[in-house]
Amino acid sequence: EGIWRLSNLAVSVQNDPGKDFLQVHNGLLQEIAKVLKFPVASMLPEEAFSVVRKSFDARKKLKEAKFVYTVDMDVSKLLSLEPRTWDFISRLEPKVGLIEHMPRERFARDLMSIVHDFKDSNGGISSREQERNIHSGESHKCSTARKPKIAVVGGGPSGLFASLVLAEFGADVTLIERGQAVERRGRDIGALVVRRILESESNFCFGEGGAGTWSDGKLVTRIGRNSGCVLAIMNTLVHFGAPKDILVDGKPHLGTDRLVPLLRNFRQHLQSLGVDIKFGTRVDDLIIEDGHIVGVQVSDSTNKLQLDCKKLGFDAVILAVGHSARDTYQMLLSHNVDLVPKDFAVGLRVEHPQELINSIQYSGLANEVCSGRGKVPVADYKVVQYVSDKDEDSPFKLESTSRSCYSFCMCPGGQVVLTSTNPSEVCINGMSFSRRASRWANAALVVTVSTKDFDALNFHGPLAGVEFQREFERKAAIMGGGNFVVPVQTVTDFMENKVSVTSMPPSSYRLGVKAASLHELFPVYMTDALCYSISMFDKELPGFISKEALLHGVETRTSSPIQIPRDGDTCESISLRGLYPVGEGAGYAGGIVSAAVDGMYSGFSVAKKFDLFHGDI
Ligand code: FAD
Repeated sequence: EGIWRLSNLAVSVQNDPGKDFLQVHNGLLQEIAKVLKFPVASMLPEEAFSVVRKSFDARKKLKEAKFVYTVDMDVSKLLSLEPRTWDFISRLEPKVGLIEHMPRERFARDLMSIVHDFKDSNGGISSREQERNIHSGESHKCSTARKPKIAVVGGGPSGLFASLVLAEFGADVTLIERGQAVERRGRDIGALVVRRILESESNFCFGEGGAGTWSDGKLVTRIGRNSGCVLAIMNTLVHFGAPKDILVDGKPHLGTDRLVPLLRNFRQHLQSLGVDIKFGTRVDDLIIEDGHIVGVQVSDSTNKLQLDCKKLGFDAVILAVGHSARDTYQMLLSHNVDLVPKDFAVGLRVEHPQELINSIQYSGLANEVCSGRGKVPVADYKVVQYVSDKDEDSPFKLESTSRSCYSFCMCPGGQVVLTSTNPSEVCINGMSFSRRASRWANAALVVTVSTKDFDALNFHGPLAGVEFQREFERKAAIMGGGNFVVPVQTVTDFMENKVSVTSMPPSSYRLGVKAASLHELFPVYMTDALCYSISMFDKELPGFISKEALLHGVETRTSSPIQIPRDGDTCESISLRGLYPVGEGAGYAGGIVSAAVDGMYSGFSVAKKFDLFHGDI
């Protein structure tokens, strides 16, 4: 009876159609039959099976690379089998690799249908509840019978999902975004890449969709792919136009070309719910009365003179500004909002020819990649090294503090892009399109840093981490010689601490690179940690140290350098009532999906605060 989950079903590359993630094909049926000990695979009805997860496994220790599936089997759909066969299936017992399926989780649907179900079961905000609000005497609960007015500041994943939940619950939502809608933002990014014009308010970090729009669009998260909240986010993305593959792919990825139309659909849906979206509008200040936010002061971000400040009243403000809104952090400090520095990581972005990474990872199978059109996915990697002076084999002088050095935000078939928001600073990241067809593979190689390191450079106080980032961003800009040119060094030169100006490999970075000694960029402990870790990565991925590989400086914005403390249940700031700090900029997320999840939960919390929602999340 019911649904059975079959996991760890391995299909060879020859027997697999490759990129089709949802298809129950012959090779897979053969493997299912083997696991079920069912003699004739072709007699199994395809419709009884659905693919839950498909990953490509090319780990070195395997004899042969393979696709690995998890499949759900709907026993009721096996009833068409002739009685003897059916008898065979009915004798199945739960065992390793074949487990009974759990009941469908509430979040296995998109957010809109989840909210509608809550509304149906609770009848929305009843007039009785509204009356209770009026007489409750809690001045900052929705104190009139009107809908609560909520400002969401920032249109990245966290702000979009917070807006969605609140608008679905019937709040009066205004989404305020300093950057531009994707159409205009695309033109501004074009002007940056082609004509070196950096719009300080519309760029790779600021604008509709936030930092995740012109990105690689990887939808991986450490929260856990099967958790209800992640499924709710993924289903919502599918609702707005993402391919269904992302629900199944072990390493889901969208790419910028798919993110842009998806965001347009997201925007239209929010507008259809009555959300007032204000692009090109920056929140410059908070309006506070009796220790509670009552509104925000905004200005037209396209007007450099800031002559047109406006005051807007709100019952609550969700602050979803990302980690590059340094002016907003400063403004929060001026109101004594609690901000605490937090550990993060900085380093360099390494770029190899994609073909080299394909051959390191897949050896004989590398030909199957075919610039993203082949059967096997464009190869990626993930490396991590613990760095400590306890390692006696190390030729590098490692200091006594223990650190990690790891690859981050790896973009196969991608390009290195400029993520500065200020012309006197240079910082970079990586993006890709859905096919991941470029000739290059890039990834950040970053080393963990903490307040002790900020102190050592004389940066103290809540924004010490921001100053630490800025220090290296300015240095990188100077080493590049200006005009957003990025300082680079081949990995072999970096390991030998020399600079060869001739034989430099090409870079995907469009604004120009300049050979430099990247040892001069960071304190010695960072350079040593990088050199040591790269030497270890080369053992794991032989060929990683290559004169074809180019290190680019500098990668500083891996995660937020601060956290804005908030109440664990309500998500409200502990130092300012009515303020809800969310997402990456507030220090509660790292990446598109986790930021979206945090935005979703904050939406539920604010809905609860204003009595729009009575369920448990
Ligand atoms: P953000 O996305 O940063 O959004 C914040 C928004 O707030 C911005 O749009 C900004 O304009 C707006 N804002 C800021 N201040 C104000 C203000 N005062 N008034 C009004 N609006 C304001 N993550 C992944 O998971 N996968 C990837 O492949 C990936 N690739 C990336 C590639 C690049 C180039 C970059 C830069 C980041 C990438 N990331 C990736 C990280 C990911 O984009 C972020 O983790 C995520 O976008 C954080 O979401 P958020 O909503 O918290 O903040």
